Amino acid sequence: MNLKAQHESLEPRLTQTLKEVLDSCQFIQGNYADKFAGNFIKAHGGKFGVGCSNGTSAITASLRALGIGPGDEVLVPNHTFIGSVEPIVEVGATPVLVEIEKEFHQIDLEDLERKVSGKTKALIVVHLYGLAEPMDQLMRFARAHSLKVIEDCAQAHLAKWNGQAVGTFGDVGTFSFYPGKNLGALGDAGFILTQNEELYNFVRRYINHGRQDKYYHDFMGTNMRIDGLQAAVLDLKLESLPKWTKKRVENARAYDEFLKPKGFRVFKSRPESESVYHLYVVEVSNRKEVSEKLKERGIETLVHYPVTMNRQPALKDYLRENDSFEISERRAERILSLPFFPEMTMNQIERVATEFLKVAKA
Ligand SMILES: *Cc1c(COP(=O)(O)O)cnc(C)c1O
Repeated sequence: MNLKAQHESLEPRLTQTLKEVLDSCQFIQGNYADKFAGNFIKAHGGKFGVGCSNGTSAITASLRALGIGPGDEVLVPNHTFIGSVEPIVEVGATPVLVEIEKEFHQIDLEDLERKVSGKTKALIVVHLYGLAEPMDQLMRFARAHSLKVIEDCAQAHLAKWNGQAVGTFGDVGTFSFYPGKNLGALGDAGFILTQNEELYNFVRRYINHGRQDKYYHDFMGTNMRIDGLQAAVLDLKLESLPKWTKKRVENARAYDEFLKPKGFRVFKSRPESESVYHLYVVEVSNRKEVSEKLKERGIETLVHYPVTMNRQPALKDYLRENDSFEISERRAERILSLPFFPEMTMNQIERVATEFLKVAKA
């Protein structure tokens, strides 16, 4: 990614915004946070929402709002960033890892049916890489088992399923504005989006010390608030998000055109998905060689994510006998993220693709 290019494109307004917040002294929540919340909700066609400290705390606050805790099981995909899973443990519930399917990089519906039990209370859907998960099927599954649904949209701002923004299907949609996300702050920030007023009223107070009023506390909350500075910057960047998203989609198509005809497996989602491509991920059989050779030529690659949740020491207490994660484990060993950001030019994409094709094996 290239955040410098993004910030340069926003000048002089970015610096003006920082100065404005400095002058206003609205450093925590306040008018900038309210204004951004209104615009972010509107951009997703949602009803209620509140900014918070980061994408992980957004999930924790949501699980608390849904009353999930000790003794409850929560279904979560095995191939994700650990931030999707930590909140489950944080609230004292048990994560149940679910395999991804073969064709699309999405949660496996059959494995969901196998893993759901009388103790299961919720499903965390992760729209990984900005590819929308099949929300019709997942909501049907959740309804059939009376499960709450949290959509982890940390990589999927403005992505749509069947024309509807992700984050508006489940009980709650959570977002991260980590600097490298499709919409990024100048530090940590996150968002909780919901269609449920009661849930909104809980999380709004929960993330702000359980406050009713300044020193009147209805219940034990915590501090997971958004900074005014981050909200003001996010509000400015939000104006450009549709344009940046369009560029991401175009850039992904351009990569596809180079790599697909050569037999490489590129990441796509079902036709109902309007994906926003947080990353451009491709599978190779000689990853180490590819990343080293590209590096020698000044092209940086990364892996999102090299170790599946079932192989993380942090999750060793939650493994179950007989669970098999062959598909996600194999994928995690083969995936490679190529340079990818909205400001990338077609020449740059062609150069990366050309160098990639010289060394990569499908
Ligand atoms: C980034 C990310 C998170 C965590 O967000 P933070 O703001 O870093 O806490 C959670 N889930 C996924 C899928 C992410 O990509």
